[in-house]
Amino acid sequence: MITLKEALTLNKEELNKFKDELRSKIEANKELNAYIDIQSIGGGIPIAIKDNIQVKEWSVTSGSKILQGYIAPYNATVIEKMLEAGLSPFGRCNMDEFAMGSTTESSFYGKTQNPHASDRVPGGSSGGSAAAVGAGLAIAALGSDTGGSIRQPAAFCGIVGMKPTYGRVSRYGLGAYASSLDQIGPMTQNVEDAAILYDIISGSDTKDSTNAQKNDKVVAHLNADRKLTIAVLPEYIKNATQDVKDAYSKAIEALKVQGHTIVEREMMDAKYDISAYYITATAEAATNLARYDGIRYGNRVEGKNLEETFYNTRSEGFGDEVKRRILLGNFVLSSGYYEAYYVKAQKTRQMIKDEYTKIFNDVDLILSPVAPSVAPKFGALANPMDMYLSDIYTISVNLAGLPALSLPITKNSEGLPVGLQLIASAYDEQTLFDGALSLEKGVAYKA
Ligand code: GLN
Repeated sequence: MITLKEALTLNKEELNKFKDELRSKIEANKELNAYIDIQSIGGGIPIAIKDNIQVKEWSVTSGSKILQGYIAPYNATVIEKMLEAGLSPFGRCNMDEFAMGSTTESSFYGKTQNPHASDRVPGGSSGGSAAAVGAGLAIAALGSDTGGSIRQPAAFCGIVGMKPTYGRVSRYGLGAYASSLDQIGPMTQNVEDAAILYDIISGSDTKDSTNAQKNDKVVAHLNADRKLTIAVLPEYIKNATQDVKDAYSKAIEALKVQGHTIVEREMMDAKYDISAYYITATAEAATNLARYDGIRYGNRVEGKNLEETFYNTRSEGFGDEVKRRILLGNFVLSSGYYEAYYVKAQKTRQMIKDEYTKIFNDVDLILSPVAPSVAPKFGALANPMDMYLSDIYTISVNLAGLPALSLPITKNSEGLPVGLQLIASAYDEQTLFDGALSLEKGVAYKA
């Protein structure tokens, strides 16, 4: 598959030919179920879009039954920015319902296969986007990351996935899951493409009140030769499988060879991240999803009165995982438990932020696992608690609002990709991409 950088040099004719070939290739790989459908608009470079990002006149459903038939009336800001840069939304990618999940198994459209092993999950929630890029069915894709949903599927599918600093990329037109955590980001074949797509979609937007209104760009200053100080976390990685530990050692060696300084640091036990995240995320989700009541949004299932209409609409429209989270979110926000759960989670969130700030006092980047293992088999994370625990290495980054990039390091003995992530301090995407370029060069991963 051509890279985004290469695609930017194609003329109109070459691009049209490429698009035709791409369509046939997608058709021939239908069983992967990476795309929900192809709804190309515009004549630009085709980019795959997660099904929770609004593309005007497209059917956009967040992988849910409740939004079947919904047609987006406007473009998300990231789509507007893409169109201006000569990129066009091409196909809609599968995802966990409302981005709640780590496997893409909770989608209304059925599961997506991992391109490296058809009996394994592609990760989630942006599993369709990751599988499309990983299988050579997309030049690049957009995903969203609330607690790892770009980085983890990228790691499972052997591609690059980047979560920008909270506020860097406008959330206008992104189907909200947990508003204080959600960010849209690039999923690409390599680090340079991620930087290119990041530059295109990031920047100021008055339509998103949490946007940082920053417009500095990275591509013009990319420098893989900068010598950085990178923190590694010997204690923190202890819960990871041997595959991940091996990749970690390989990455450290590669970073040393590239001339970086490696220092050891520690992080607070990640079990607190899980609690703080699943309280915060479900509380915000319960609030955000209240609008799907069959009156304001969502397919209405009539009842005898208004209350029964709400009840029927939500009972039939939402899947089990989404219902579980709405219940949990309303519970932690209820007057009797608010202090015990929600307030405590916010205090823990502050402690996590402080911990990162302390580490970034004297280091440029942190090297961390993305997931504790390679891509699991279908059904292996069917128990919700096991699934939540598998997010252990990604969610603190969202709680602290930091930028992070997941990139493939190696393959295990079964040929499954193992990815790791670099984490930078807030708004330091430049250092993140510089370090990632250097690490990519050092590990020389073969897709
Ligand atoms: N797996 C996490 C969750 O289910 C993260 C999902 C995401 O980043 N959207 O909440």
